[in-house]
Amino acid sequence: MGFHEIFIDMVWRIMANNWYSIIVNGKRHGFFHSTRGLKQGDPLSPALFILGAEVLSRSLNRLHSNPDYHGFVMEPRGPQVNHLSFADDIILFTSGRQKTLKLIMQTLNLYEETSGQLVNTDKSHFMVHPNAFNSTRDRIKRLTGFRQKEGPITYLGCPLFIGRPRIIYFSDLINKVLCRITGWHTKMLSYGGRAILVKHVLQSLPIHLLAAITPPSTVLKQAQSIMADFFWGWRNEKKKYHWASWKNLSFPYDEGGVGMRNLKDVSTSFQYKQWWIFRSKHTLWGEFLKAKYCQRSNPISKKWDTGESLTWKHMMHNKHKIEEHIHWKLNSGNCSFWWDNWLGMGPLAYQSTGSNRFNQITVADFWLEGRWNLNMLLQQAPNSQLANILATELHIQQGIPDQAVWKPNSDGTFSCSSAWNVIREKRNKTKFNSLIWHNNIPFKSSFLLWRALRGKLPTNEKLTSFGNEAANCFCCCNRPGLDTIEHTFNKGQFATNVWKSFAAPAGIITDHSSLPQLIMQWWSAKANNEAHRLLLQATPIFICWNLWKNRCASRYGGKQSNISRVKYAIYKDNYKLMTTCFPHIKWPSRWWDLIQLGEKCTQDIKVTVVKWIKPPNGWVKINTDGSALGNPGRMGAGGIIRDQYGEMLLAFATPLGEGSNNQAEVAAALFGMTWSLERGYRNIILEVDSQLLVDWIENKTIPHWSINTRLLKLQALIRQANEIKCKHTFREANFVADSLSKHSHKITSPQIYLGIQQLPKETRAYYQLDILEMANFRRRRIKKIKEPP
Ligand SMILES: [Zn+2]
Repeated sequence: MGFHEIFIDMVWRIMANNWYSIIVNGKRHGFFHSTRGLKQGDPLSPALFILGAEVLSRSLNRLHSNPDYHGFVMEPRGPQVNHLSFADDIILFTSGRQKTLKLIMQTLNLYEETSGQLVNTDKSHFMVHPNAFNSTRDRIKRLTGFRQKEGPITYLGCPLFIGRPRIIYFSDLINKVLCRITGWHTKMLSYGGRAILVKHVLQSLPIHLLAAITPPSTVLKQAQSIMADFFWGWRNEKKKYHWASWKNLSFPYDEGGVGMRNLKDVSTSFQYKQWWIFRSKHTLWGEFLKAKYCQRSNPISKKWDTGESLTWKHMMHNKHKIEEHIHWKLNSGNCSFWWDNWLGMGPLAYQSTGSNRFNQITVADFWLEGRWNLNMLLQQAPNSQLANILATELHIQQGIPDQAVWKPNSDGTFSCSSAWNVIREKRNKTKFNSLIWHNNIPFKSSFLLWRALRGKLPTNEKLTSFGNEAANCFCCCNRPGLDTIEHTFNKGQFATNVWKSFAAPAGIITDHSSLPQLIMQWWSAKANNEAHRLLLQATPIFICWNLWKNRCASRYGGKQSNISRVKYAIYKDNYKLMTTCFPHIKWPSRWWDLIQLGEKCTQDIKVTVVKWIKPPNGWVKINTDGSALGNPGRMGAGGIIRDQYGEMLLAFATPLGEGSNNQAEVAAALFGMTWSLERGYRNIILEVDSQLLVDWIENKTIPHWSINTRLLKLQALIRQANEIKCKHTFREANFVADSLSKHSHKITSPQIYLGIQQLPKETRAYYQLDILEMANFRRRRIKKIKEPP
């Protein structure tokens, strides 16, 4: 195959120097030599395999240039594909012609001889169109030696089929989910353990399949109900009652769910990914589809036709929804003027009825010498968008294709989780919902409270509605009918006693309100520090959890309800939590002391002295600041340029239209830099109080996609200076720019100040302090919790 001597020698030595020893009944027996093959796990083995496979792939592709070869008929203007291969799994596409089949078999045989690998005839099959002649089938059989097979087939775990997606094609998927579950003993796992398995393992099983194809929704529902059965558990071969629907579990914690996902949404997010790749990247399958279905028109303007592929059907079905989230960043202007969303208002084609919207004209066609071609726009563009188009600033970069931006992610790149978040149904976020959960509080404890608050526990309220008889209280009074959520967790004598003994030392007044109100009394109490806050959050969760454990032990476990046991368990749960979260503090061994210590812990306040410092001789310093009211909202910018004596050279305040804080920060720096260069300053210190902006300028982090164009302009200006330093300073040393930025919200047009007397009053005061290099004090709470002295 044309390898260098040294390479062949290296490979040979690895293969030849291979000794094995076998352990029989625990004892090693002899050494023997291997005559072929590598050591197991040697990375050379896959490398050699890939080299070999590459040879096969290239020789198959070379057939296209052979005049005797007539392959599988494909769209002539698209890519010609005669095989797809992954590792040792290969699909060949061909016509049934004798010469062609012979050529392919010759190529395979040559590969077998050269590589020493063999085609497994038993595992190889051929498929033909249902209407193919018998003579064709016989010819293929004779020439290849393979047997015929009917579809569907499975390739890399994906069912390949023609026509409607039948549920039977996806039985593998269902079986895989079932197999996993039967291997786990649900009895040994808590709700928390099962939740983790469902979230991480079960939901990821079908992932690779969903990435390639879209199963029918019945299949997804079936897989999901298997997961739900597993989550709620089994008893004696019977699945337990599902206390909440999967839908209600499938919301993030702060929206009142328990963090599960709806499989249908996950599947849809993969369809989004497919469309994103189709639109923004060059791939073989993408080029294939484009050649097949949108030869002359833009994919967005296409409609699905009967007979076209199922994947294409799904793509056509979703595209409008997905396109709303894609923005095109102009570089060389090669994106479609009519169909790509480069203006941010959706495709311009929707605003026009003219037939010219179906042409392939690009945005760059509307440019003339780096500017918008007004005449052409007047003739062709929709009038209603003319102002918006002309307001689009151009930063033309020849040779760089326009770039698709995925708006839901701040850096503009696609991710399935961001797509999922766009697709899924949302509910209101509440503080109350999110406080039920904490990373270091066990899932089972939080989940119990979640269920109690929703009346989803096997107590009287629910059981009597199933026709069961009401049960008596199991915790304290044994009174008839009192096995209810309110009695067990709140109003009962046992519960009241427990709540009181924890609330009193914590300084919380508990009156006899409902359970949610009682919990709210803990969660709305004022926390002195982070440790105290965690105790206030966790204690009600642990109280409910242990009250429930006590009730169940008394009901099913034959144990007596015992108040000191419950109190100790609640203390212990809290102690464990605090030791995990704040290990550097020694937590005491009684509740009273624990909560007292939690209250008295301190967070130090760090005071730093900051001041504005004059630039060195021959330099100027620009301080800028930008802000948006409401973020996003009305933006404004302010800034000042000062010399080595701290004397003002120029200052400005300007409103900027709508946008975010970060956009305003960039725009402010851009404004300041423009003026400094205009005035001929070449040694510049640019000082801002946004660390993010400094990082963006220095290309240390990727900015939000909406900032990119402005940032590139700013970087271009920065390169024009002789010497430049970008510095971060604290806001306390940037008060002049800060006050000018605030002032910009009160004015309607840009203001340039050349004399101190013109400055707004507040700005002037800060300016005087800066000249004297007066110190400001910056106070920050330090995160780390300290024991009281
Ligand atoms: Zn009772």
